[in-house]
Amino acid sequence: MFGLMQDHELLISSLLDHAERYHPKTEIVSRTCEGDIVRTDYATLGQRVRKLAEALRELGVKQGDIVATMAWNTHRHLELYFAVSGMGAILHTVNPRLYHEQINYIMNHAEGSVLLFDISFSQIVGQLRGSFPKVRHFIAMTDEAHMPTDAGEVLCYETLLEQMPGEFVWPKLDERTASSLCYTSGTTGNPKGVLYSHRSSILHSFLVCQADGFGLSAQDSTLLVVPLFHVNAWGVPYAAAMSGAKLVLPGPNLDGKSLFELAVAEKCTMTLGVPTVWLGLLQYIESTPGLSVSDLPFNRLYIGGSAAPRALIQKLERGGVRAIHAWGMTETSPVAAVCNFLPHHYDLEEEARLDIQVKQGRAVFGVEWRIKDEDGNVLPHDGQVSGNLYVRGPWIASGYFKMDSAESLDEEGWFPTGDVAKIDPEGYVQLTDRSKDVIKSGGEWISSIELENAAVGHPDVQEAAVIGVAHPKWQERPLLIVVRKPGTDPKPEDIIAYLAERVVKWWLPDDVIFVDEIPHTATGKLHKQKLREQFRDYVLP
Ligand code: ADP
Repeated sequence: MFGLMQDHELLISSLLDHAERYHPKTEIVSRTCEGDIVRTDYATLGQRVRKLAEALRELGVKQGDIVATMAWNTHRHLELYFAVSGMGAILHTVNPRLYHEQINYIMNHAEGSVLLFDISFSQIVGQLRGSFPKVRHFIAMTDEAHMPTDAGEVLCYETLLEQMPGEFVWPKLDERTASSLCYTSGTTGNPKGVLYSHRSSILHSFLVCQADGFGLSAQDSTLLVVPLFHVNAWGVPYAAAMSGAKLVLPGPNLDGKSLFELAVAEKCTMTLGVPTVWLGLLQYIESTPGLSVSDLPFNRLYIGGSAAPRALIQKLERGGVRAIHAWGMTETSPVAAVCNFLPHHYDLEEEARLDIQVKQGRAVFGVEWRIKDEDGNVLPHDGQVSGNLYVRGPWIASGYFKMDSAESLDEEGWFPTGDVAKIDPEGYVQLTDRSKDVIKSGGEWISSIELENAAVGHPDVQEAAVIGVAHPKWQERPLLIVVRKPGTDPKPEDIIAYLAERVVKWWLPDDVIFVDEIPHTATGKLHKQKLREQFRDYVLP
């Protein structure tokens, strides 16, 4: 027997309707590529989104079509999130930091018919547009006064909107309809497309708003640092409309100073981003006389995308900002674990609390976890053994766009994350490595993540990466690559001595190399593959 409850499809357009009706005056503040700050609100968002949907319809965009963007976090990019998905088309957010060959690959794989871009990317568009034969319209996301001259023939976003009445009526779609498309950065092989649905995006938004998720609510002023081109900005645009949270969009300026000033001016209560951005923010605060972490207005700050260094968490916590680690990937929408405390953790001493906070997070309702050994045996959640991490749930990918789905999941429908992790009896997941980054020394595994984390705690270390290099006896040994803090000159032995107090002896790196810069991927992670290539011929002392 079925229940007698109404069947309402879970649609992204309903999020916008809700925000417009119940939070019309809640602000959306955006730093733009033209340099000024634009202040709008959910009522204006709704009106402009309807005009945008009309403009796209006039340009021939139909349900199921793909519309690509290459843009920063601005009010216009946010409008595209709701207009494209709302009208039943699919928003494909292209990461502009990818190599040109990768941009070419994903644009042609996705076959979008329209590309909208920020003026900061006009040159890339000008260079690459000849290789996008499927794109019928190029639209510069700006007004007539700032139209680019180096992108070829393009339409003007603001002019298109001005011409529309703004009466678009959102179609009733099946909630399983595709809503957006993001490609994994593909550090190995070609990028793979993850195709989200209205249903998965809305269920994921409930998680983002849940207290033990990101707790997003109408009380929040949210500094959205994570890019709208990186896994739907962790689902926050949808969740903000669901909860009526104020959104503060930093545009192209992601340096420490710009973020600090915007956060203070807009009294931001929460923010989200990858560790590199927060290291930049702290670097700015520490190097500016008179500033301290306690000047940050956030009551909480979410860190994900790569492992949050212990020292980063500690500095934020000491400055009164709750630092919350989270784990996810493009294929998991992305939020799958959030490291909130349980009641008994509040009584712990600082070090014991940090031991919890460096873990990637606890399972949230909707995501199931398991770890398996190399032979496929399911391992216990005892916090001791580590294994290949698998997840499943209603916002986890079941396959990749235009690829055979059977290859993507294991025989019982679990998605293999490519990460190696331990899970403790309370459900906290701790990543030891990506499987391809694990260092195999004499048959035992050394966690590059733990070593990097420990190294970043040294007062002279700005950034650290650990890779395995070939060793005649042990097969592989860890090599530590360090970017020094400006004005410091630590010696390798200082850093090894510091690590010796924090990790077991046989994990200690065999050498420390200082570099000016560590390469990053397009999503701001340590580019281990590049480092391995760079140090391929390196011989340990
Ligand atoms: P890509 O796989 O293309 O680099 P994703 O954003 O999908 O882009 O990356 C997902 C991966 O990022 C995860 O599989 C994991 O290895 C890593 N990751 C995400 N969050 C964390 C975290 N909190 N700690 C450590 N690694 C993380």
